[in-house]
This record gives sequence, structure tokens and C-alpha cells, in this order.
Amino acid sequence: MGLTGIQIYKLLPKTNCKECGEPTCLAFAMKLAAGKAELAKCPYVSDEAKEQLSEASAPPIRGITLGTGENAFKIGEEVVLYRHEKTFVNQPGYGILITDTMDDTEVEAKIKRLNEMFFERVGLTLTADFAALKNESGDPSKFESLTQKVMGLTQKALVLISENVDALSAAGKVAKDRRPLLYAATKENADQVGALAKELGVPVAAKANGLDELIELSEKLTSIGLKDIVLDPGNRKLKDLYADLHFHRRAALKDKFKPLGFPFITFPNEMTDDPMKEALYAAIFVAKYAGLIVLSDLDAHRMLPLTVQRLNIYTDPQRPMIMEQGIYEINKPDKSSPVLLTTNFALTYFIVSAEIEASRVPSWLLVMDTEGLSVLTAWSAGKFVADAIAPFVKKSGIEEKVDHRNIIIPGYVAQISGELEEELGGDWKVVLGTREASDIPAFLRTYASKG
Ligand code: SF4
Repeated sequence: MGLTGIQIYKLLPKTNCKECGEPTCLAFAMKLAAGKAELAKCPYVSDEAKEQLSEASAPPIRGITLGTGENAFKIGEEVVLYRHEKTFVNQPGYGILITDTMDDTEVEAKIKRLNEMFFERVGLTLTADFAALKNESGDPSKFESLTQKVMGLTQKALVLISENVDALSAAGKVAKDRRPLLYAATKENADQVGALAKELGVPVAAKANGLDELIELSEKLTSIGLKDIVLDPGNRKLKDLYADLHFHRRAALKDKFKPLGFPFITFPNEMTDDPMKEALYAAIFVAKYAGLIVLSDLDAHRMLPLTVQRLNIYTDPQRPMIMEQGIYEINKPDKSSPVLLTTNFALTYFIVSAEIEASRVPSWLLVMDTEGLSVLTAWSAGKFVADAIAPFVKKSGIEEKVDHRNIIIPGYVAQISGELEEELGGDWKVVLGTREASDIPAFLRTYASKG
């Protein structure tokens, strides 16, 4: 169990200096106990107190990193049941199943899909994360060869699936520098697989028949000194697994129940033969509450919605995605190119810039910092109004880049055009643009043809 707010308070400096952002040390202690503050925010905690407080401030679900280098990803460290309470922290990884009974052509095709499937959205690259290699043959040497082959084809993280200790050992030794997940320690082999994970220094999954057995297994693995554990309660029925995932998250967060304080791995690939159902199950597990999701295959029509859904759920609802304020060049503009203005809400920027790009009209796009608010919201909040826009335009440096003084503003803020022209002064002219981004290409082509 974690420490209570009062127990934490006794270990704090009690000077109420407010540097942590809280009015008092007691308020900070209460937030720390609730998992809503980080200990690092108080610069005055003694080393001794830090040690005692680390348990209270550590996320109730342990963070586990799989893979290495730029392909490494972290799961766990969640602190809330519902995204609107704060934010979900580390998005679950998607993996593709590859077995050692597949022929070379199929293995290569699957790895190609893993390596090459990505989607660009709001400036981010959305991808799948790992290859789940399964020892279906039961032959350790085949599993070792598959692991070796896959490592030569991809740098992505690996999950090694076998209940045969010899097979896990052979593949694990080959892949240990990639920090793979060994799946799985079971009631029957926990001692050997636990010892193997310890020897290789890699994370290990515990697979059980139900939560009671899972708790016992988790305690056993912890007792031999393993810290990086992933859990699988063994259920492959949606309703039961969904209940397990809820129970697990509640027990870890609300009761600080240590044996369940680890991320879950899920297998939609083992729950149905219908690819669309599999994608639906995966979508459910993204929302509640998987750390790893194994899919039978990756194809664009399922992975696009799945990766976008994951992005949406794991985006902090309290922090809008923003672009840096500045001048953006689109289609190689020159001194005579049109100048457009928008806000720095990332979604607005990417929609507007994509439409400008599609118009093929060389343009300058001025992106103003409105704290991530979209055009109308920023206007109604007083952040995208004439007396704020004019100084930004003047200081942006756009006057040196163009030999005209026309600025195209979003059609939704037509009401500011007169005032903005006045605030800008000089030869500046405000041109009313479109209300909808989809009308930008036609608008720009007509605008540019008029010179
Ligand atoms: S920074 Fe530390 S000492 Fe200062 S109020 Fe916060 S908890 Fe107390």
C-alpha cells in the first residue's frame, strides 16, 4: 500500500514555500498520495525522504519498456481510470503475430507490413510497434531461427511466445539485446522462466487461468526479484477479459494492489477468426485498458482507424496539440505569393496547410500562437482579435518576405477585418478567406489568377 497524505506530509519540509505549485506542503502531500503530483516538483525533499516517498509517488502501474533505440516504447504508468480525469500516459503497443510454422515468404511479407505501415496525422507518424513471434512448432531450434530471421528484417521490438522453456531460452538469448518480452511464465514453469528473465535482464509475462492464479504468479515472479512484469489473466472471451481489465485497473489504482500493478497483454488474434471483430476487440482494449495488443495481421483499412483511435485516446485532453508560432512555407512561395493567417491548433494547421498544398499555389501561412485554440474559439476567447493579430504580423518577419501587403484571414472571423486593417496600418489590406478549409484550393487558385 502507498503512503497516506498525512504520512507523506510528515516527510516534506513543511515550509509552504509554494515552489511545487501548491499553496501548502499539505496540499502537495495530498496530491502526491492521490498520484496527481510528481515528487520532483518539490526541490527541497531530502534524499532520505525521497527514498521513503518513492513508493508513494511511483505510478501504481509499473512502466515497462520493450525494444531499444528509436523503436523502444513504454507501456504502463497509468494513473487514472478515466481519460477525462487527467490523461492516459503510455499508449498500448500494436503487434503482428508471426509463427515458426510460416514459410519464409509469409514471414517476410508480414515483417514488410510491420516495417512499412505508417500514417501521418497532425504531424505525427502512427505505426505498429512489435512483432509477436510464436513457437507454434514446439521446436526450440525453429523458434530460434525465426527470431534470428526476424531480427535481421526489422528493428522493431519483439514478444517471444512459447511455454516451452528451452524454446524461450534459445530465442531469448538471441534477442536479449533488443529487450524482448518473454511470454510466458505459467503456474507450471514460473521458476524456470522467471530465472531466465532474470538471467537475460528482460521483461517477462505471467499467464494464468483467471485473476486469482495471476496474482499468485505475479507475487512469485516479484519474490524472485523481477520487476518488469506484464500480465495475462488467460481469458479469451471478450466479456470476461473486459471485466478482468477493469478489475485490474481498479485494483492497481484505487487499492494500490501491487500484484496487479503491471500492464496487461491482450490477444484479439486468439479471440475471433473474423478480422473486423478482431479490430473491434483491439479498439476496446485500447480504451480499456491493455498495454500490448497482438493482432493476427496488419492491414491499412484496420490499422488506420486503430492507430488514430489510439492517438485520440492517449492525447492529453487538457493540453491541445499545438504548432509553433511562425511563418510556414507551402509550395515554395516567393515575394508575390499570398499570405494566409490561421491559429496554432495543430488540427487546424494540418487541415489548412494540406488544402493549401493541394491548391498547388505557392503560399505563406502565418500561424499565430492562440494557446492551441481553433479559429472561432480563439476569437471568442479574445486571443485571435485585431489588436493581438496586428503585433504578431508585424513582428513575424513576413514584411521582409513579400513585396505586397495583403493578408487572407479565415472567413469565420470576418468581423475583425476592418479593425485589423486599422491596427496593421500602412498599406496592409485584409482579404476575407473561406469559412471551410475544403474551399481553400478553389479560393486560392482564383485569388492567384487575379494577380
Ligand atoms: S515545494 Fe516542497 S517545501 Fe515548498 S510548498 Fe511544495 S512541498 Fe512544501
